[in-house]
Amino acid sequence: MADDSSDYSYVYEKEAIAYIDEEFDQIKDDCYLDHAGATMYSKSQMRNVADDLSSNLYGNPHSLGTASRLTHDVVDQMRFRILDHFRTNSDEYSVIFTSGATASLKLVSETFNFSEDGGANGHFVYLQDNHTSVLGMREVVAQRGVKVICLNHENIFDLFSDAVNTDEKKIRRPVDGINSLFVYPAQCNFSGLKYPLWWIERVRNGKLDSLIDNDRPEWFTFLDAASYVATNKLNLSIHKPDFVCVSFYKIFGYPTGLGALLVRKSAEKTLGKIYYGGGTVEISLSSDMFHSKRPVLHERFEDGTLSFLSIISLRHGFDALSKFPAKVVSRHVFSLARYLHHSLLKLHHANGEPIARLYADTDYEDCQKQGGIVTFNLLRSNGEIVGFVEFLNMANLHKIHLRTGCFCNPGACQRHLELSNEDLKEHFNAGHVCGDQRDLIDGKPTGAIRVSFGYMSRKSDVESLLDMVKKCFLNGPEVIKIPEWWKECKIKVKNNPNKNGIKVANENEPNNEASSIKKQTVDCETIKVVKEVRVEDEIMENEGGFRLKRLFIYPVKSCASYEISNSWIIGDRGLIYDREWMITTPSGVCLTQKQETKMCLVKPIIRQAENSLELNFPGMPSIQVPLKINKLNTEITRTEISQSKICGHRVEGIDCGADVSEWLSLCLGRPGLRLIRQNSESKRIKPVKKPEIAFSSQAQYLLINQASIQWLADRVPPDSGCDRDSILDRFRGNIIIEGGKSFEEMKWEKICIGKTRFQVDGKCTRCQMICIDQSTGNKTVEPLRTLAEEFHGKIRFGIYLSRTTSDSSVIRIGDTLFYK
Ligand SMILES: *Cc1c(COP(=O)(O)O)cnc(C)c1O
Repeated sequence: MADDSSDYSYVYEKEAIAYIDEEFDQIKDDCYLDHAGATMYSKSQMRNVADDLSSNLYGNPHSLGTASRLTHDVVDQMRFRILDHFRTNSDEYSVIFTSGATASLKLVSETFNFSEDGGANGHFVYLQDNHTSVLGMREVVAQRGVKVICLNHENIFDLFSDAVNTDEKKIRRPVDGINSLFVYPAQCNFSGLKYPLWWIERVRNGKLDSLIDNDRPEWFTFLDAASYVATNKLNLSIHKPDFVCVSFYKIFGYPTGLGALLVRKSAEKTLGKIYYGGGTVEISLSSDMFHSKRPVLHERFEDGTLSFLSIISLRHGFDALSKFPAKVVSRHVFSLARYLHHSLLKLHHANGEPIARLYADTDYEDCQKQGGIVTFNLLRSNGEIVGFVEFLNMANLHKIHLRTGCFCNPGACQRHLELSNEDLKEHFNAGHVCGDQRDLIDGKPTGAIRVSFGYMSRKSDVESLLDMVKKCFLNGPEVIKIPEWWKECKIKVKNNPNKNGIKVANENEPNNEASSIKKQTVDCETIKVVKEVRVEDEIMENEGGFRLKRLFIYPVKSCASYEISNSWIIGDRGLIYDREWMITTPSGVCLTQKQETKMCLVKPIIRQAENSLELNFPGMPSIQVPLKINKLNTEITRTEISQSKICGHRVEGIDCGADVSEWLSLCLGRPGLRLIRQNSESKRIKPVKKPEIAFSSQAQYLLINQASIQWLADRVPPDSGCDRDSILDRFRGNIIIEGGKSFEEMKWEKICIGKTRFQVDGKCTRCQMICIDQSTGNKTVEPLRTLAEEFHGKIRFGIYLSRTTSDSSVIRIGDTLFYK
């Protein structure tokens, strides 16, 4: 790549870089860019944890022996270490251990007293751009009768835009007994914007009084520091929020399931508590309603047994971090983010259109305001948005790990993506929910791509990502330029949507491939001389002379195909022996090519005459398992029946025994694999409502049109490493037809092959599986990249069929195909 690193300034010394290369084996060959999701632990950190736990005897801190004394002391030490990390001490703050930032927020929402008399006079104020863990607080406090106020991005910055009034505190006398709570993030987990921490003091001085009519409550601030503290120093000796929450895996990767709530001493009085359990009481009578909670805050709030081994492990996390001063880390992640942001900003397609739409709250020039996060969507050269699922498929292929969607921050997502509440409700009604795969609805994105850096991120991580973006999404030679709007925009706080915005693709654009396909088919429709054919009682056509060309089954799910040479029986559950077997891992889940590409080298052969399924693998002797299990056999293996989950369905199967398991484990180099066969016996007992589906993942038959394969082969670049003759195999269809034009099959509703009738259940959406060369197991970017580009991210290829006739039937190569 043309190295335009002008936007990157080195922050780390050579020693730090060498240390990172040495310490993070787990991300050596991968490009890990989801540190805001979870950051990484270092090798020596984990070694120290192991050494610590294996050389010390740690007992339950509630017991009284020396082992528990040790635990108790180390846990207390960790409280001091945490306070020290945040530049404060136990005179000013208490530490309550929780399971994470979310649990800390929840705890305060349940126990914060909005008025001392137990009433609900106070207010709860939050930002639209808060994490869902904060939005959830709203529900709890609203139910308690507290008034809730949501401030959007402009509201809150407007509110604080005035000069500080030095009299603010003096003129204000809070009304006794009414408490209000303001919650905001120190850093936005969507855009990386760092919010001003001086807001805390001004809120305490009554800045938010203007939001409410009469009472003057005492104001408390909860700082959601979960994202901020991962790569920034929070100095509680300068800014003193009343509550702070953190999750430790976001700071140094390990342990998970542990966080803390820091409570300022002066705010302790606001936390009331009802529940107690474990060590949080001094006395509790079991038959009488009498108990007394412990006076020390954390002793009162940490119900049950602490996660003490995790707490002990914190020490080694802090130690690992101590090699990287927080100020340096902030600058390092900022520098990486700036580099990525500016590179994407300048990168344009050959036609001069931008490649990315960046969702930024700052211009990436000020480390005080911007953290190590870059959020964006990619654009095609015609201005259409690339769906994040398509992007994710490419990223997976390149071992690039990042987060897509809305990152649990629907408010920020909505603001940046310019989605109205109506849009969101419409998306929801259209079936889109958080975390699903619906990346585009009517061409509008439902989420974005987030890159986030951690203290051990490298410059090469940014470069791997940029290389991938260029390789997979850039149309033509790159054009590097600073966009005009960026130059013009003096306060470059926000992408101007009109200048860098989404252009809705013109359906009739002549140079647009997908639309010309559409046009072609439309033309076809108008000039078609319909040749009607009566198939039983239905009128179907065979214009185009479609015929069944080839037939494949996949006896073992995700392994190689077996091509049928002449004819085959269609039974209750589809083509017989199709996906009748599957391979499971020691944890009992089905192994697929997504995890193990070598599976495509396991080649099954059906030997009916010998009653055997023969499995082959390069360099191994073949092995046989019986096709039909006789009664006796079944009795023996019945004990080995296992239940497995296939795409959400529980399937019962029979274990095929130790020999073949060993053989498979040896071939694939994974211990503990088992071959499981669908248990047809048990199936028959159940009432059959829907047609039974064997171990195939979605439906019974996948039909592929050879003309469509040819269309794709013509478009895949010859030097892409994707052998065009291999394309058909990659799609793993059952029924391959010839005749007619490409993509005609996409319009069909019903078909009939020979005498067997099918209905079309839908189009097959394609994923990274088609990037695996089925003859070698190697991954290539094609043909997914071409398919995604040609279809604007809606990657569909082939149609799913289910049979509508019920009796067993036979289909033959050469059978005529009728359609409707
Ligand atoms: C991650 C995060 C949370 C939630 O943290 P958990 O560890 O999942 O409880 C809350 N707020 C922000 C800003 C975050 O980044």
